Amino acid sequence: MSLEAITRRLHKAEAAAGRAPGSVTLIAVSKVQPSERVEAVLDQGHRVFGENRVQEAQGRWPAFQARYQGIALHLIGPLQTNKARTAVEMFDAIHSLDRPKLAQTLARLAQERGTCPDLFIQINTGAEPQKAGVLPDGADAFIAEARALDLPVKGLMCIPPVENDPEPHFRQLGTIAERNGLAGLSMGMSDDFEHAVALGATHVRIGSAIFGARDG
Ligand SMILES: *Cc1c(COP(=O)(O)O)cnc(C)c1O
Repeated sequence: MSLEAITRRLHKAEAAAGRAPGSVTLIAVSKVQPSERVEAVLDQGHRVFGENRVQEAQGRWPAFQARYQGIALHLIGPLQTNKARTAVEMFDAIHSLDRPKLAQTLARLAQERGTCPDLFIQINTGAEPQKAGVLPDGADAFIAEARALDLPVKGLMCIPPVENDPEPHFRQLGTIAERNGLAGLSMGMSDDFEHAVALGATHVRIGSAIFGARDG
């Protein structure tokens, strides 16, 4: 696969869902990928990237940002409170807001800075004990809590359990978003992004299908 092939498939999925081409944001997930692969995708003109670790992003992106204009970085992995400051300085969007303490920390930083990255609340749709995210039962209350802190909550994010059919998870995320008046849906990865687009994804997070398999 390649950026070009994935972009073509994404446009087809958008058209099939009756949505405008380019209306879904393609987040190229560059975590763990060698820099020359990331650079190749930058050279093809892509500018929206996802990383799952603050520290890895911090090591890699400042140099690229000095050379390429208009890069947007999305944090898609868990965020520890003690890395929140670095994260809000670096990222344009954070997809892993999932607990009150992090919401409070982000709200404090937003007040201090007068600005805040776009936020997505991660929902643990599979209720997997090892996975981050708010349980579906607690979603409405947590969304209300984050909004009460004046945080810019743009939508919801989920990572369906690996062995499951992702569709019920995408549907459930859409249902929770709709009843809370949230427009953003961050869902869909290399193996299932077309389903996600059919079910209303506004942001897909695609790594290996663009860059190739990750080592480790
Ligand atoms: C790694 C990762 C992706 C991309 O996964 P691929 O299967 O390589 O497309 C998407 N979302 C999250 C949260 C990830 O950690």
